[in-house]
Amino acid sequence: MITINEELCKGCEICTDFCPKKVLASSNTINKKGYYLPAATHKDKCTGCRLCELMCPELAILISKE
Ligand code: SF4
Ligand code: SF4
Repeated sequence: MITINEELCKGCEICTDFCPKKVLASSNTINKKGYYLPAATHKDKCTGCRLCELMCPELAILISKE
């Protein structure tokens, strides 16, 4: 399961760039601070590698077992 803390996200797109499976993509959703949030558009392809979680500078992503 991919959980994105919308209020911590700064819209840097590191997670979308580094995901080896291109699970994450930028969305048109904006958080309260005005940053574009990533969305898990291909959740089914997620391997649970946690690279996105480790790379996010804001610790805004949490990968957990469903
Ligand atoms: S856990 Fe790995 S495969 Fe899944 S979204 Fe994050 S970087 Fe991509
Ligand atoms: S790496 Fe973190 S802060 Fe950057 S867009 Fe992804 S979730 Fe947001």
